[in-house]
Amino acid sequence: MTFELPPLPWSSDALEPHVSAKTFSFHHGKHHAAYVNNLNKLVDGSPLARKSLPEIIQETVNDAAKKGVFNNAAQVWNHTFFWNSMRPGGGGEPPAKVKDRLVQAFGGFDKFKEEFSTKATTLFGSGWTWLTASGGKLEIVQTSNAGNPMTDGKTPLFTLDVWEHAYYLDYQNRRPDFVKTFLDHLVNWDFVLANMKNVK
Ligand code: MN
Repeated sequence: MTFELPPLPWSSDALEPHVSAKTFSFHHGKHHAAYVNNLNKLVDGSPLARKSLPEIIQETVNDAAKKGVFNNAAQVWNHTFFWNSMRPGGGGEPPAKVKDRLVQAFGGFDKFKEEFSTKATTLFGSGWTWLTASGGKLEIVQTSNAGNPMTDGKTPLFTLDVWEHAYYLDYQNRRPDFVKTFLDHLVNWDFVLANMKNVK
């Protein structure tokens, strides 16, 4: 197969009690796996099968006839990026280099958390909330469904999946609790710092 499901970067129970192994058995083992399988079927025998996920995402985003390819390719990339956006013992205060940038961009670390929480909890329906950089400017971006800010020229620094399947088994309808837990206990700030180094 052209595209493969990457393993989780930690064991499936490593983020308990915040996100359960049961959630990952579905979210990674079923949802993420299905996006990989669907993408492989959709690009089989086409020139897209030889391209990278970011190339496929950029090439199909505005092509109505390739909507299925875009949705599955972006969901494959987004989920891998989301797993790496979290780590056991994460969240809380970022390293100084990250914190300084957040304070500069949002007027304070608490203000950043407030804006991120508001955008993540008010995103209607299914989608993603991102911290992005473009032209040295940090921004919190909402995308619907499979959307990815790279198609607007923005570099993702981390993301939170706010599709119901990301939290329903553990939090049911309480998306705000999931968002708060993500910020307080899960964000992998080292991953954010590493991504910032790739931004001009
Ligand atoms: Mn998901």
